[in-house]
Amino acid sequence: MEHRRREPAKGVFRLVLPLPFPGLDRVNAYLLTGDEGVVLVDCGIWDPAVPDHGYSELVAALAACGVEVSAVETLIVTHPHADHYGMAGRLLEETGCELWMHESAREDLLVYEDPAAATEEVRGLLAHHGVNAAELGELTGFEDWRSYVSSPVGATRDLRGGETLTWGGREWTFVHTPGHARSHICLWDPDQHILISGDTLLGAITPHIDFRGEEDGNPLGDFLRSLEAIEELEPRLVFPGHGRPFEDGAERARVIARHHDRRLGAILQVIRREPHTAAEITDAIFGEALLNFQRRMALGEALAHLAYLGANGEVERIEQGDGTYLFKKLPRRGADGG
Ligand SMILES: [Zn+2]
Repeated sequence: MEHRRREPAKGVFRLVLPLPFPGLDRVNAYLLTGDEGVVLVDCGIWDPAVPDHGYSELVAALAACGVEVSAVETLIVTHPHADHYGMAGRLLEETGCELWMHESAREDLLVYEDPAAATEEVRGLLAHHGVNAAELGELTGFEDWRSYVSSPVGATRDLRGGETLTWGGREWTFVHTPGHARSHICLWDPDQHILISGDTLLGAITPHIDFRGEEDGNPLGDFLRSLEAIEELEPRLVFPGHGRPFEDGAERARVIARHHDRRLGAILQVIRREPHTAAEITDAIFGEALLNFQRRMALGEALAHLAYLGANGEVERIEQGDGTYLFKKLPRRGADGG
């Protein structure tokens, strides 16, 4: 693709890299330049279907900003989903650069290290939630992201959130924003109120919140807290992982939180009279005419919302004799109680 120089803030460049997915065909990486050298935030996907897996796209995007790939000293990955992290292994190999990620990214890398086990786990999860045997294979055919990652390389430095990076005259703070991924981090410039938001805050789409059966996991609860934290920062300018930079991050955070609030309400509405499986709830909320990939995403979203309602004491999970789960609406505390 055509690469050009985009510098949305002084010394901060936006690289636009191709993705092989219909409906999500671009991902942003950001380049932080300064006297200290060059830092890259995210690096694009390792695409098995194109020549050199797309590495030359990254090289060309850097060149359009006047930077040679060998100048990259540090790669910071906001979260290790393939579209942001896929090229990391190759980049480390080529440049010897450092790789910084949140410490919990280690657990997120397991899906690449043992994709068969990850797929099996999701099969088990979906079977419990009312997906029939015939559909299981089709829905879990998308769990294997290994081929979109050059190698599941680990961080050379673990971040926890709160650390700072002084670069190019700015002092960036790392903010841990779990939800879209448990290991998600953003970079925050408190002086100019600029947020490099990864996939935690996107301008045109609502970030996908998945649930993979983690014991006591509540990724939507985590995500809503991350949105609140961003709202408090009041970003003036947001540099997202997909799409153009946008203004007023607090307002966007509120809009996304309201979207989830409505979806929580819609789920409670579906189960107001009788309990249903997550698969039935997904059909009722998202419709049945979904492509397999969309249906897998929709199920993950529904499960994340149900885990949130469960943690809030608004729904109860009931195990049936055949091992499948039903979700039952509980009376609101303080209401309906007589
Ligand atoms: Zn992404």
